[in-house]
Amino acid sequence: MNTEELLLRAEEKNVKALQLLADLVRIPSLTGEEFNAQRFVADHLQKLGLEVSSWEPDVKELFDKFPHVAQYPSHWQHDLILPYRILPTYEDLIASGKIDILNYARRPNVTAIWKGFGGGRSLILNGHIDTVTIEPLDEWTHDPYGAEIEDGRMYGRGVSDMKSGIVAALMAMECLIEAGVRLRGDVIFESVVNEEHSGNGTLACVARGITADAAIITEPTKNHIRLGSAGSVCWGVKIAGRSRPTGARWSGREQNGISAIEKIPRIIDSLLAMEQKINRNCRHPHLPEQNPFSLVMGRVRGGHYDGVTASECILNGTAYFGSEVGSVQEVMAHIRTAVSEGSKTDPWLMEMPPDVFFLHHDDPCDIEEDASIIQVLSDAAEKILGHKPPRYRGTAACDMRHLINQAGIPTTVFGPGWGDQIHKPDEFMPIDSMLPAIKWCR
Ligand SMILES: [Zn+2]
Repeated sequence: MNTEELLLRAEEKNVKALQLLADLVRIPSLTGEEFNAQRFVADHLQKLGLEVSSWEPDVKELFDKFPHVAQYPSHWQHDLILPYRILPTYEDLIASGKIDILNYARRPNVTAIWKGFGGGRSLILNGHIDTVTIEPLDEWTHDPYGAEIEDGRMYGRGVSDMKSGIVAALMAMECLIEAGVRLRGDVIFESVVNEEHSGNGTLACVARGITADAAIITEPTKNHIRLGSAGSVCWGVKIAGRSRPTGARWSGREQNGISAIEKIPRIIDSLLAMEQKINRNCRHPHLPEQNPFSLVMGRVRGGHYDGVTASECILNGTAYFGSEVGSVQEVMAHIRTAVSEGSKTDPWLMEMPPDVFFLHHDDPCDIEEDASIIQVLSDAAEKILGHKPPRYRGTAACDMRHLINQAGIPTTVFGPGWGDQIHKPDEFMPIDSMLPAIKWCR
């Protein structure tokens, strides 16, 4: 069967692909509750006649093998609940008593292998089955699990991130298998759990020794080719105060009641100065116009009562950074230093140093633009579109990091769906982005 016939076959598959996607979107698979959707994927792979395995990641093994990289398992209802000062550790997880909710029981990865007949290069197709919460539910105008189609868009949680990518990869394999194509190299399919705020699903595939000559993660990229991902650090600063009611705020001329809230500006100013300094000094070789460091301050909480100085205040945020800024450990050190510098401007903060903690981290990664997988994808796309798809470096993190950094596999991210639609109410996928993804993945 020639390429034209295969592309025609892919077109015939588009209706089935959308049906399969709708079926998958209708199975909720929030982080921590991936079981039913994984069973659906495993059933489909079995029908294709592949060797399929469903297996739960081993948390202890991840920390043993990748002590700087493994993260605490996460769960949508108990997200980022275990702070750490330097690194998360298995021992701290056990000591916290939270292993009964942060674990992989009934949360299997599903992997399958389509064996080649030998002598060719192998390829991993990777996607995550878990999705973020559907809250705030009252802001949805469509059923988050309805897979409703309106004006050329399918709506639902996970439709872009990233059930459409999983279905595109499944359909690409199905087209080839049904056409009787025999490949020389192996194709390995991975549907992983707990990508959101962890990455342990893909890391467990690496720990298991699953490898290939190249990998494609079919996360939503509008069918553009991603050459790298940012690293990220979820950080927090806890500031102490001294609580006194209104009448005891001053003792004569002496300040008695010290609100933790009145001390936050010192810390915020210092953190913002650090962000500016890094952005002045770092330039990405491929993106000289783009600031490489984003320090997002997302949340602040503190105090109990309007008439009492706040005894505590917590500032939470996330830092995103390109590899040119440095390693995760270096970024954590920048945050600690900035908090410490800010504290030096205030006698109370010198006496009561704020507590800096972290809740999640992931390393940045990059793939060389002349890597074979980039060329092959680009050429395949050009045959369909008449032009090469745009290439870009991602400003968010994804599982790409583990395949590149830990497994040493040249990996790109490429898939249907729109990254700017994810993690929010009315997540959608333009249905015409599905077919190109199936064709290019083939
Ligand atoms: Zn995703």
